[in-house]
Amino acid sequence: MGGGDAGESFPFELNPMYEGERVRKTGMYVELGGLSKPGFELVLFEPDPEKVRDNEVTLIGPDIGEMEEGGAYAYGMIYKVYGEKIEKDLEAVIERRNHEFQSYIQGYMHLNQRAEIWVRISKDAVKRGLKSLKQIARATIMLFKSELPFIEKMEATYITDEAEVEKRLEEAKKIYEARDLKARGLHDEDVDEFYQCTLCQSFAPTNVCVVSPDRVALCGAMSWFDSRAAARVDPEGPNAPIPKGECIDPIGGEYTGVNEAAVRLSGGAYDSIKLHSFLEKPHTSCGCFEVAGFYIPEVDGIGWIHRGSKVSETPIGLPFSTIAASVGGGKQVRGFLGIGIQYFYSSKFIQYDGGWRRVVWMASDLKERVKDAIPAEMKDKIATEKEAADLESLREFLLRVDHPVVKGVIREVDGAKITDGWAKEEEEAGITAPEEVTAAMVKGEAQQPEGIAPESVPGSTSIMPGSAPITVTLKNADISIGKIVLRRKRGE
Ligand code: SF4
Repeated sequence: MGGGDAGESFPFELNPMYEGERVRKTGMYVELGGLSKPGFELVLFEPDPEKVRDNEVTLIGPDIGEMEEGGAYAYGMIYKVYGEKIEKDLEAVIERRNHEFQSYIQGYMHLNQRAEIWVRISKDAVKRGLKSLKQIARATIMLFKSELPFIEKMEATYITDEAEVEKRLEEAKKIYEARDLKARGLHDEDVDEFYQCTLCQSFAPTNVCVVSPDRVALCGAMSWFDSRAAARVDPEGPNAPIPKGECIDPIGGEYTGVNEAAVRLSGGAYDSIKLHSFLEKPHTSCGCFEVAGFYIPEVDGIGWIHRGSKVSETPIGLPFSTIAASVGGGKQVRGFLGIGIQYFYSSKFIQYDGGWRRVVWMASDLKERVKDAIPAEMKDKIATEKEAADLESLREFLLRVDHPVVKGVIREVDGAKITDGWAKEEEEAGITAPEEVTAAMVKGEAQQPEGIAPESVPGSTSIMPGSAPITVTLKNADISIGKIVLRRKRGE
């Protein structure tokens, strides 16, 4: 793909080979959105073609030439679309493709989605002649219309004025919320088909994304309704139906059709997925997940932290970026899981592992954000960084509030009652972490999935069994450990 169509030439190349291109801080001209400034992207369907000024771009706020080098700015991207085949359910689907098409732009890094977007423009791009965000918007519109021919007219409004971004962001959040609410009334057993999405396979080739009514996409951008609309309008595109087949495990959410899709989509890397499980055959995680979950073997519970959280560390001593590096890359990692925020509201939320009764810790800003999803009896039993900043204080907190993991979370697996939690631990007289969990933590796999700060690569890891901390620091190491078992000696 060249640097523009017959009507306009751009001072950058447009090519899928730039997907995954990273703009590091040292090579960055400006940053838009991200952690320090508000940002969002939004697609709105306009049923009246007369109300869409095709190919028109409006910019509100300073343009690239007026921005200070090295600065951070607010960023909003709103697209109005018209097409005879477009329906409202397609808004989210078209919106999700903004990430893909903007990633084709040389020297322009686009990460994440919705109100989490994070863009960097490189110094090289500016040197080559990139002067205006209007050039970016026009190139993006061109890509949208050539790749998705059902879009007949498209208009863009880009905003960099911070007050205006804040104002429009509030409106955008209401629209995201309305989309999410619509998806909550339908359940896995009500439909015959789930949907696959292969968009993120460009950087996570073994990723198997399955969107079901009870499991929103881990990027948070695609519900079952959105995926169905996408598959209908663009059957050759990244979304296609997965016939459910036979239900093998109703609690874990394992289906023959999903398992067949897992083999096909992962190139044989995975042969089974339980949609509602954390520790056993979990869903793969590409890197776009809104929230990262981590198993805490010392208390046999699960913790959660979201992208953009103000909380810098979790009780296992790792920040979001390091946990995310262990979760992502299209892998199925027992003990780590990436999810979309709306999955907290699912009635099947990690039900294979005991659901909310297995959750022991959440970043306080995440707990506040999803407070309506937490069952009343669990609200005061889940610690945040305020009550538990490390494993010792977490353990004390869980004992004090009599968290279900202390006596044991009872759950049903294949018709049998399984008890997890400390009761099981007592039985075993030791603490045994699932081997992949500990091995992945010790290996400190330095993979850098999508959505992770380019500068942040895990190098050191803390594992704290019980009250005795062990710090393992790896430098330029290539170590492979199959299994580590940590046991507390009797009487200690
Ligand atoms: S995370 Fe999954 S659903 Fe979302 S864009 Fe990527 S592949 Fe598609």
